[in-house]
Amino acid sequence: MSSTACILCGFVTFLVNTQPVHLLPEIITIGGLFDKGDIKQEVAFRYAVDRVNHEKILGTRTKLRTIIEKIPPFDSFLASKRVCNLVRSGVAAIFGPQSGQTSSHVQSICDALEIPHIETRWDYRLRRDDYSVNLYPHPSSLSKAYLDLVRLFQWKSFCILYEDNEGLVRLQELLKTPSPNEFRVSIRQLPRGDDYRSLLSEVKATLEQNIILDCKTEKVADVLRQAQQIGMMSSFHNYIISSLDLHLVNLDDFKYGGSNITAVRLIDPEREEVRDVMLDWESGRALHAHKHLDKDLINKLRNISFWTTETALMYDAVKLFVMAIQALDNSTDVQMTSLVCEGEDAWVHGNSLINYMKLVKLNGLTGNIEFDALGFRTDFCLDIIELGMYNLTKNAHVVQSIQVGTWSKKTGANYTRTYQDTYRKIVDGLQNKTLVVSFAFNDPYIMKKAGWEDLQGNDRFEGFCVDLLTEIASILKFNYSLVPVPQNLYGSRDRVTGEWNGMIKELLEQRADMAITDLTINFEREQAVDFTMPFMNLGISILYKKPQKTAPSLFSFLSPLSLEVWMYMITAYVGVAFLLYILARFTPYEWQNPHPCNPEPDTLENQFTLLNCLWFAIGSLMQQGCDFLPQAVSTRMVAGMWWFFTLIMISSYTANLAAFLTVERMESPIESAEDLAKQTRIKYGSLASGSTTAFFRDSNLDTYKRMWAFMESTTPSVFVSSNANGVKKVQEENGHYAYLMESTSIEYVVERHCDLTQIGGLLDTKSYGIALPPGSPYTSAISSAILSLQETSTIQLLKRKWWKERKGAGKCNTSKDESGSSSMASELNLNNVGGVFVVLLSGMGLALVVAIGEFALECWDISKEDEVPLAAVLSKELKFVFKCKGSSKPVRKKDSEIDTGDNNLYSTETYGYGAKNPLT
Ligand code: ASP
Repeated sequence: MSSTACILCGFVTFLVNTQPVHLLPEIITIGGLFDKGDIKQEVAFRYAVDRVNHEKILGTRTKLRTIIEKIPPFDSFLASKRVCNLVRSGVAAIFGPQSGQTSSHVQSICDALEIPHIETRWDYRLRRDDYSVNLYPHPSSLSKAYLDLVRLFQWKSFCILYEDNEGLVRLQELLKTPSPNEFRVSIRQLPRGDDYRSLLSEVKATLEQNIILDCKTEKVADVLRQAQQIGMMSSFHNYIISSLDLHLVNLDDFKYGGSNITAVRLIDPEREEVRDVMLDWESGRALHAHKHLDKDLINKLRNISFWTTETALMYDAVKLFVMAIQALDNSTDVQMTSLVCEGEDAWVHGNSLINYMKLVKLNGLTGNIEFDALGFRTDFCLDIIELGMYNLTKNAHVVQSIQVGTWSKKTGANYTRTYQDTYRKIVDGLQNKTLVVSFAFNDPYIMKKAGWEDLQGNDRFEGFCVDLLTEIASILKFNYSLVPVPQNLYGSRDRVTGEWNGMIKELLEQRADMAITDLTINFEREQAVDFTMPFMNLGISILYKKPQKTAPSLFSFLSPLSLEVWMYMITAYVGVAFLLYILARFTPYEWQNPHPCNPEPDTLENQFTLLNCLWFAIGSLMQQGCDFLPQAVSTRMVAGMWWFFTLIMISSYTANLAAFLTVERMESPIESAEDLAKQTRIKYGSLASGSTTAFFRDSNLDTYKRMWAFMESTTPSVFVSSNANGVKKVQEENGHYAYLMESTSIEYVVERHCDLTQIGGLLDTKSYGIALPPGSPYTSAISSAILSLQETSTIQLLKRKWWKERKGAGKCNTSKDESGSSSMASELNLNNVGGVFVVLLSGMGLALVVAIGEFALECWDISKEDEVPLAAVLSKELKFVFKCKGSSKPVRKKDSEIDTGDNNLYSTETYGYGAKNPLT
């Protein structure tokens, strides 16, 4: 075998490994049936045969000879006649035709005469005749590829634009959606003629962004151009083109639109084998050698893109035949036979030849070629290609379709492009593009410049967000055009109709590429549009009139302690006095000789009467003391504890009173959202159509629910159309209106309006981000730009500039003593002084235990001395104590001393077993 045969590498392996043992006939005739006017197929067929002969692939002796018959696409009778002509000439195989109607007749004749029939046409039948193979991938496989693409892109809905019914067959897998919830499909047929604008406008009105276009390759550019004219080729739009020949379409016009155009292809022009054939074709070497084609036609064909999927398949078909006949030659002596359609005879080698065709594996222009037993192509691979603008040099871009992945039946669709590739493509696509940016006015995010009426375009506006956008645009090198949103609405969804308003609506209806201002990222919005990384964090708070300085009240001396503490103190005072009284009666050591000069008094006195106890307690509390003091351990413990308590309380009171007298009191009727919720006198509201309103509307917390019910039901409405109006309302209503506003905006406002302040902390935490239409390709690029601006502190610097340095900042003296509630002395409540009450209580408890001990000990002594049962002593003594009457008590005497007269107060009857002076 000649080494020149190496050009077709698929053949090389085969030729090197096999040595023919038989000689092939000198001439092998093959028939080609072509639709009239389908010159490309015929040329491809001839070119492939020419190359085989020229490169002596079948050996130096054997040549392929072609017999070409042309038939009208719908004339099956003529087709049958032409096939009979071919078989009479003794053909080894018949190629074509492309028309479905004539092809089935050809197939059945070939089947009867056992002549292999090789097709390269789109055919959706599920069964083939035995003697036929088709190199064109079966439509069901292709439509599976489109389904996999849709899944890869995670489309939730799309519209199929098809030209004829074959298109629906091609996309059948998408129509029999496995799960109805996976995606929504709408189907529209392209009208006849060449004006598709009205249909495209209808699709545009549905806001559908994903389109699958199935039409002839020649029509693709036309449809896309008209789509571009009506604004359907923006970066919001994604297209899958079902044509396998997108490389033939001039897509230059769509390079700046930014829409994503994806397709699949069988031929990869980068593959060596394909490049070799294409170069050979372009050089015209093979064609010039061809006698059958006139020069004009050759030149014409060289100027148009000749290599379509179908011409490549025809080339591969010839290659397949050559491989199969060589394999047949290895096993048998091949003879060509002339046959007649009407006869009984069939070609003896036909069966083996078709089986070899189904068995061989080769690498053609259309990739791996293999067949299943039915003659359908299996195991083929499709390239996923995407149209994109790619950076050649710094300033030069080129539009090209590049391979971004592969598809095969076994593995499905696989993206081979890295995240960096995708990112670079997006960034490249953004360059020099002008994005429409919707915004709502709010100081200091976006404001009108002074004298803005005389300015033009973006120059009319200034603010934090304008600066931020300029920074992002300079990183990503895009231009932008600022467009104020109608009615200055941020965007909220109508609960009944489900429709959005404001900037979110602008994005959803594709009137803007981006929305920027103090736009809060919340769940509902995140479901509808895409958000970038946040550029600022904040929370909802309350904007309210600064608390007014109040004149000290007549009873301001009560202020240092809360009412609660005062009440507890009074209770403690009464409690301690009463306990002292009881314990003093209990303990024997508080009963004293009223006349110290008389060593044997008749009675003992207790100085702790109830009144004295109250006096003693109040005297201690007032730090004045009193003329009698406790003697017993238990009562001294009570006194000690009480003194400790009064020490702490009086010091705390004094210290706090000093603070109250030196600080001017500023009173605010509300200190938190809870305070607002509890009352109805002060109205409160928020920005209509904003996330703050949505927060209260959707909250599940009781307080916020109550606040929402109040806000909703209040008339006139408490909602305002802009933050500026909210601020004005708070000022005008002078304490009768509080505005629920975001903390960063409050920060800006209180810096400039000294009569306003923030009340309480943050009710939630959230962030501002830039919103983009759902599925926008620019989200990650803009997020990256925001992150880099955050890392270089640019955002912080911009915030400082717009909050602290620009337009009226620093007007208010916000030093501690002026700023209201934070510097106020606050009354002491139980939390501050609760501990001292606890200590007091514990002391009282301990004193009680000691008193009981003293009492018990005394009773025990008496019972022992007088030999009276302890129970009797206890009962007598307790009775006396709890009589709570009288502060004197007879002295207990020994039995001999007891006067038994009736009047004797110390008789056993009156005092029982007698009593003794506890001090003796
Ligand atoms: N920043 C808010 C928004 O995005 C405005 C507000 O509700 O206070 O809706």
